[in-house]
Amino acid sequence: MSGLPERIARLKQRIDRACGRADRDPSTVELLPVSKFQPAEALREALALGFRRFGENYVQEGITKAAACPGAEFVLIGPLQRNKAKAALDHFTEILTLDRPELAHRLRHVLGEATGVHPVWIQVDLWGEATKMGGCSAEDLPAVVEALQGDPRLPLQGFMSIPPPDHLQAFPQLGELRARWQDRLGTSLRLSMGMSGDLEAAVEAGSDQVRIGSDFFGLR
Ligand SMILES: *Cc1c(COP(=O)(O)O)cnc(C)c1O
Repeated sequence: MSGLPERIARLKQRIDRACGRADRDPSTVELLPVSKFQPAEALREALALGFRRFGENYVQEGITKAAACPGAEFVLIGPLQRNKAKAALDHFTEILTLDRPELAHRLRHVLGEATGVHPVWIQVDLWGEATKMGGCSAEDLPAVVEALQGDPRLPLQGFMSIPPPDHLQAFPQLGELRARWQDRLGTSLRLSMGMSGDLEAAVEAGSDQVRIGSDFFGLR
């Protein structure tokens, strides 16, 4: 009686329709469930429906859930402190919230001689004080990219962002940022943008991954 299959069907329909308006292939948009504060049981139900990757905001919560949900993998979507860098690399398959050069240095340092690959996304905040959720400014972005030093163990996937609510112009701005950096780096980059309330505008502006918490798991 959780209603999870119905909520997923509704989300897929919303993504399909947004893709239809933007002339995009819906299979190119990842629906990433955000499982923060959800019990392990809810994740296991999603796993049974074919979802394997989950977004978590806190390193410790991800570690606890990983132990309780065999077969699940976690990507970090919350701010990462330097002292949690090792734990994050050990327990998360991707880090979406790289937002300062020191953190990139720290990730490279704790990797040491290790050879495993940990894809990273840079979190950007193009709107300054409007959001206090982390993220680097467009001016600081080159230093963050530079700090990765092209390390093949930390391949840059693209940009993640949490624009201020109701600022729908944000999504096209992020699309332009992505285009500029694709030209600059000569690689293709993905965009992780759009949440429960604004996924349509994000998809229409080119989002490759929508991160959905409340409309996926329901309100607790
Ligand atoms: C909680 C959270 C989400 C999901 O938000 P909803 O509005 O519940 O869909 C997405 N991204 C980040 C970074 C979050 O912290």
